[in-house]
Amino acid sequence: MAHNLSPLQQALAAWTEQWKEQPQMRLYRLQESWSEVVGKILAKKSFIGQYEGATVTVLADNSVWLNELFIQREKIVKKLAARFPEYTITDLKFRTGRRAQQTPKKAAEKREQEHIPALTAAQKEEVAAFFAAVSDPTLQQSLIHLRERQLALELARREAGFVPCTICQQLTDAVDGICEMCKLRAQAQERHAVTRYLKKHPAASYRDVIAAVGTSESMYAQARQYLIYRTLDHIYHRVETAAEQVMLASLLTGIEPRELTEDHVHNLLAKFARKAEDK
Ligand SMILES: [Zn+2]
Repeated sequence: MAHNLSPLQQALAAWTEQWKEQPQMRLYRLQESWSEVVGKILAKKSFIGQYEGATVTVLADNSVWLNELFIQREKIVKKLAARFPEYTITDLKFRTGRRAQQTPKKAAEKREQEHIPALTAAQKEEVAAFFAAVSDPTLQQSLIHLRERQLALELARREAGFVPCTICQQLTDAVDGICEMCKLRAQAQERHAVTRYLKKHPAASYRDVIAAVGTSESMYAQARQYLIYRTLDHIYHRVETAAEQVMLASLLTGIEPRELTEDHVHNLLAKFARKAEDK
């Protein structure tokens, strides 16, 4: 990338690069190219419904058109692969299905259902101006379309009282100002910390764990259960280590690992080994 770009151009370039690789964006670009790949007639009767991994799923009105497309399968894959080499498309799937008719009226109805307001002409102009420098017209249209939708959602959310998440800045309506994603991430980190502590101190009481890690009773229960089931699973598949055996025995009995004898561990876990053999 050239170094004499203005900050706005740099932001635009970064945003474009980022969006180009979004799955949603990839699907959009594939859909946009469909009539050039299969021709106008077939493109009227079929469309790309999904793009996942290396596979593109094509939907058509009926089996007659599916059959026609199936015959051209190899040619279509080659054309798509040549046009979008970075998508590594190797396979086509076919099924019947209709595309939702997106007439302007229906689009407006859909927006109303979702409570997404339309952008003003000035706002639309601003978005278009932002992407004026994109030379690929298909990509430019896609970017404008996506950004308009994103902006409309953003405005609707702000109007509805959403505020930026105090951690990631995404708009949220959570009363504590922390969005769902950040909460999930924090929970995962907490669960990880509790699990790590329990592995080291399997005989610790839940009060000890809560005090040491700063967690809740339910998180302690979750982490403990996870460790127990995971180790039982290892025993079932006969891949458990000696350390895991001791940890499990300690978790189940509340006896410190150093106070557990080998016999004690063996007798306790024999039950589970037998259960595994019964199955
Ligand atoms: Zn957040």
